[in-house]
Amino acid sequence: MANTKNYGFSTKAIHIGEEPDFREGATGDVVIPIHLSTTFARKKVDKPTAGYEYTRSLNPTRNALEIKLASLENGRFGLAFASGLAAESTILLSLIKPGDHIVAFDDLYGGTKRLINQVFDNYNFNTSFVDAVDPKNIENAIKENTKLVWLESPTNPLLKVSDIKAISEITKRHGVILVVDNTFLSPYFQKPLDLGADIVVHSSTKYIGGHSDVLGGSVILNDEDLYKKIQYHQNAVGAVLAPFDSYLTLRGIKTLAIRLERHNKNAIEIAHYLEKHPKVIKVIYPGLKSHPQHELATKQATGYGGIISFEIAGTIDDAKAFLEKLNLFALAESLGGVESLIELPAVMTHASVAKEVREQIGISDTLVRISVGIEDVADLIADLEQALV
Ligand code: PLP
Repeated sequence: MANTKNYGFSTKAIHIGEEPDFREGATGDVVIPIHLSTTFARKKVDKPTAGYEYTRSLNPTRNALEIKLASLENGRFGLAFASGLAAESTILLSLIKPGDHIVAFDDLYGGTKRLINQVFDNYNFNTSFVDAVDPKNIENAIKENTKLVWLESPTNPLLKVSDIKAISEITKRHGVILVVDNTFLSPYFQKPLDLGADIVVHSSTKYIGGHSDVLGGSVILNDEDLYKKIQYHQNAVGAVLAPFDSYLTLRGIKTLAIRLERHNKNAIEIAHYLEKHPKVIKVIYPGLKSHPQHELATKQATGYGGIISFEIAGTIDDAKAFLEKLNLFALAESLGGVESLIELPAVMTHASVAKEVREQIGISDTLVRISVGIEDVADLIADLEQALV
């Protein structure tokens, strides 16, 4: 394909990596086949057929996804893993040595914190968790041995927004690698590499897959040396995305733009509805003017996403009763699928974060997180209305 860089987002999402093969003997599929073969035969001992040897190292379906992911994030290289946490652990295994130091946002997804604090703890590196809303906190935490800065923006579940460009200027000055988890906005709304990040990571289980039916993780980057290190570990550690899961993810990506438009539109409407409800104490959504980083969110991304957190009046039992009364919102962990989900971070997604830490960063017992789906918004609001009594 000529000039593919100039294609719009949806054109890339549909075509890149899946160009029909018209070579002699090929079939011209418009959708990449699911290559289930774990090994690939060759005619000559020292010449793997089209570069393929063994699926853990390289698989045609996964490769199509990796090429598509890279093009959507405006990156040179993409890598697909078995889950978001598999992608994250492979980054850490590739780039961190004992004695190194990491600076991380204090409001990361609970599983990412657990990975850093409880799993990689055994590898003898230490981490400073800071409030990255103020880039100065990042700069102040950087030490001689700091290797990585790890951000999520917006964060899970408090939807704090950090200034990726300003932080990337700091990390560049100190020779530190900046990793941004872009799960909440997806490349449709935010492109951290364009803002100066070195590595983008996703739980593609969420918006990228988009249908709550496939787990996955992705890494996208521009620097060839970093890519080679992570690619080496992708194969050597082996947490790769399976061919069928690669196909499901490719299928999901094709509608990423239209899904995200609808998630965003529905979420804006629901956030405004919640803001006026007497039972709701506080609504956190970057698209609301009341969000402390609303201006920054508007500047660095082209949409606000489909996640809203809000605090309801009363006790944890009132919050549980509200959640259990809903009909359309599924009471479930995860986010980013076409169906609306609701959860209580203190007892569900963030239960692995110690209570004192949760309280310190603002995850109260009545903080509710919703992942707004793409259903008809009037039905979603009616469901919230009957449960918020
Ligand atoms: N990053 C974020 C922001 C997440 O919300 C999650 C999961 O909820 C992950 C990473 C981990 O991804 P996975 O569940 O695909 O391992």
